[in-house]
Amino acid sequence: MSFTIHGLPVSGGIAIGHAHLISHTSLEVSHYILPQSMIKEEIARLDAALEKTRIELTSLHEIKPQYAAAEFDAFIDLHLMILGDEHLSQAVRDMIVEEHCNAEWALKVQMDDLVMQFEAFEDSYLRERKTDVVQVVERILKTMSGQSSQSQPAIKHDVQPIMVAHDVSPADLIQLKPQQFAGILTDLGGATSHTSIVARGLNKPCVVGLHHARELIKDNDMLIVDGAQGVVIVNPDKQILAEYKLRHSEIELERQKLRRLKTSRACTLDGTPIELHANIELPSDLADVKENGASGIGLFRSEFLFLNRDTLPDEEEQFIAYRTVAEGMKGQPVTIRTFDLGADKQPNSAKRVASNPALGLRAIRLCLAEPQLFKTQLRALLRATVFGNIKILIPMLSGTAEINQTLNFIAAVKIGLDIDGIAYNPEVQIGGMIEIPAAALSLNAFIKKLDFLSIGTNDLIQYTLAIDRTDDEVAHLYDPLHPAVLHLLSHVINDANKAGIPVSVCGEMAGELAYTRLLLGLGLRQFSMHPAQLLAIKQRVLTTSLNEIGTLTQRMLRASDPMKIQDLLRKLNA
Ligand code: PEP
Ligand code: MG
Repeated sequence: MSFTIHGLPVSGGIAIGHAHLISHTSLEVSHYILPQSMIKEEIARLDAALEKTRIELTSLHEIKPQYAAAEFDAFIDLHLMILGDEHLSQAVRDMIVEEHCNAEWALKVQMDDLVMQFEAFEDSYLRERKTDVVQVVERILKTMSGQSSQSQPAIKHDVQPIMVAHDVSPADLIQLKPQQFAGILTDLGGATSHTSIVARGLNKPCVVGLHHARELIKDNDMLIVDGAQGVVIVNPDKQILAEYKLRHSEIELERQKLRRLKTSRACTLDGTPIELHANIELPSDLADVKENGASGIGLFRSEFLFLNRDTLPDEEEQFIAYRTVAEGMKGQPVTIRTFDLGADKQPNSAKRVASNPALGLRAIRLCLAEPQLFKTQLRALLRATVFGNIKILIPMLSGTAEINQTLNFIAAVKIGLDIDGIAYNPEVQIGGMIEIPAAALSLNAFIKKLDFLSIGTNDLIQYTLAIDRTDDEVAHLYDPLHPAVLHLLSHVINDANKAGIPVSVCGEMAGELAYTRLLLGLGLRQFSMHPAQLLAIKQRVLTTSLNEIGTLTQRMLRASDPMKIQDLLRKLNA
């Protein structure tokens, strides 16, 4: 029987293959009461399993995959930390002693308790860490039951299998040699789950949050995964299969053709050059940047150096990361954003979760409130400026007072480096992100005091429309084409261009084909996006005539009816 399941799209493309079900350790463990004489033995059995699991996890560091080395190390460390946490192990030992129950049952009860505590967090990132607790307990249970790691799929019918799992930890994902799967499906997981992060790095079609896929799909069922739409078609009929096979080869052909654009200059049909830069999270993303021919890095989200760890990176560690990227880009611009921690990116050491994190102590506000942290980062950044073309970008500035405070702070850090006799580029450019409506509406202060601007449309849209970008219940209201958003964008780009100050867009809008011509029509000449989107955007730039899009863009700005705006966008992209 053919049927369709819908989930959350994580990574685009189409995969066609047979289902390979990944076994899920049943957490419905048995419960039995032990005689007093066996308690010591039971605790020893538990401790042996904990130690065996620890050795197994530690050994995974050795086989980390190149495509996500840093993230993978962080996942393993997080799982080792949960494994070693007394909240789990000691509580389980205590329960065995007090209730005379078997170790598996005590583990399950403690896990449920911890999961409940994680579920109470308001912050979505912290809430999702409950998955890591479950994955670690599953691993211990597997060890106790003598199960080995997951079986590898047999490749049948000359097609790659598609992984179907209830949930899969990043560590398991690596052990399963994901390169041999054509696609990945999981019941659990959100867009920010660790598994999604690893899956995205694999660049394979991936859909998460499918809820019942593991129950509904049987081993060897024929599957079509549409990663861009988050759709899975199970046992498609011949006609649907033929259609998707055609689309699959079209996408492949398109990808191959796009690769040819890697070294070509990005310019419009009228010959106007356009800068296409890449967004990165970690220095290990550099390979992707090169692979897609970016002419610079428009946004290095440095806060990712601070996540998934218990200790903060010191000046030396940060310096090495910034220097590596600067040197790797060989003189091309590298825009490093000072850390944007807070909101949905909390370091492990965060003491409190704000009642409304997106409006709380985030980004530059946190930097100015924690001067020691900020000073450490700025020293590392300034030291790295002599090794390449680094620019410093400040997130979430709201107006003059914060700009002045930040610039004074940077000046003081420079004086500190002078006193210590440490070299840096005194002319390093300082830019500001425009992501709060207040910033867009008081742009003169930014133009007067800063060297360049970068529009963070993800936040600018969130704050303009009062829509929490992490809340899927209001996701349908998140509208880049809202007239208020278009007016703010047009105003910022126009005024920056008139003043001769460089301006770019580094939010998701910059990497969406549907908006490339609109942004070009608004006067944008610099885009920064995920490296995987770059060649498709370049192709769109190469086929755009600025002369032809001007009038339609202006009509879009004058329109207020959403249908009319959509209609004009369609014409713009025709
Ligand atoms: C943005 O807000 O558009 C942006 C690029 O920053 P981030 O997504 O990291 O908040
Ligand atoms: Mg932002």
